[in-house]
Amino acid sequence: MTLPVDHDELAACVSCGLCLPHCPTFRVTGEEALSPRGRIAAMRIVDGGGPTDGAFERIIQTCIQCRACETACPSSVPFGRLMEGTRQALARRSVPVWQRAAYRTLAYPRLLSALTAIGAVAQRAHLVPPALSRRLALPRLPLRQPSLSPTGRDVWLFTGCVMNAWQRPVHVASMKVLGSMGVGVALPDTRAACCGALHVHAGLHDEAVRLARRCMAALPGPAPILVDSAGCGAALKDFGHLLGEEGEAFSSRVFDIHEWIATRADDLPRPKHELNGDGGLRIAVQDPCHLRHVQRAETPVRTVLARYGEVVELADEGRCCGAGGAYSALQPELAGAVRTQKVAVIAAARADVVASANPGCAMWLSAAGVPVRHPMEIVADMCGLTPATS
Ligand code: SF4
Ligand code: SF4
Repeated sequence: MTLPVDHDELAACVSCGLCLPHCPTFRVTGEEALSPRGRIAAMRIVDGGGPTDGAFERIIQTCIQCRACETACPSSVPFGRLMEGTRQALARRSVPVWQRAAYRTLAYPRLLSALTAIGAVAQRAHLVPPALSRRLALPRLPLRQPSLSPTGRDVWLFTGCVMNAWQRPVHVASMKVLGSMGVGVALPDTRAACCGALHVHAGLHDEAVRLARRCMAALPGPAPILVDSAGCGAALKDFGHLLGEEGEAFSSRVFDIHEWIATRADDLPRPKHELNGDGGLRIAVQDPCHLRHVQRAETPVRTVLARYGEVVELADEGRCCGAGGAYSALQPELAGAVRTQKVAVIAAARADVVASANPGCAMWLSAAGVPVRHPMEIVADMCGLTPATS
């Protein structure tokens, strides 16, 4: 099988192994095959005519696509693209019908809302098996969501699928913070219901392209597009890879919300109560991989949060938490082992709250009892901008 990857990029790995200690699946298994170097070696064998058997599927499907290996690699091997191309080649047989149907649901907000409401009722009636809740890291699903209304046209806020259905208070907090800075926020229509990140990860290339075109149509004009989900932001910034120049022009308008705000930090609202001498709230920052390794935008989160408390660094240099989009549901054992390491590091930090700018990481860590909030929620709370805490 010829893999749909750039063969110069596939050849770029010099097998130095410097990425191995940064790879979460290698760290928890110690298996060379489940390291970036091992995965690239397996891709080369298949690309050269080797078998695409169960062993190869396991090597590929157990990758979290965290891209920590890219950050560590001195040869700049674009591992994420190699993995996406390989999954695309395997998708026809490795992505079952039920999984395709679940991904398709994400692009239909009314259907997603209806399913969320059914799930919320079932949870309250204790009809959701605990094993399923654990496997999906389900939060307490909302029966009702706060409504969002546009406040202007200075920027777009990308609202997305699961985040909009399950964590809309984060969007409310983002809009409150932007509003307090004098920024008017426009909201896209339902064509921007899904950025296609999970589809890209699964190798569903054609569906990802279709969703990308819909997003672009729903977010026209020159205004910046702000994203408060790290995974969605990474996907929206990579539309050039899916759609060429047209996608690149769109992606140049996309910013992680903290990235955009950090350049205007002096406009941020002041905290309700001045910080006391010891720095106040201890905020541990969990770096979502798609913010740190893909967008390379982990610093702005700290710039913003430092105005509201003491930023506490975790002692693992931003290692993955194991969530990985749908990974935690598809590979629960490995994901759980990776999370156990992360939770231990978080506990050692003795923080009051953990800030995570990605909904998947937040749900996955919350399911393990970690007190997680989105940075925008922390800012809104500290400034008395949200009703729950004002
Ligand atoms: S993307 Fe993450 S899990 Fe996959 S090989 Fe690279 S470091 Fe390992
Ligand atoms: S991916 Fe990069 S860091 Fe890892 S073995 Fe290959 S060249 Fe070395």
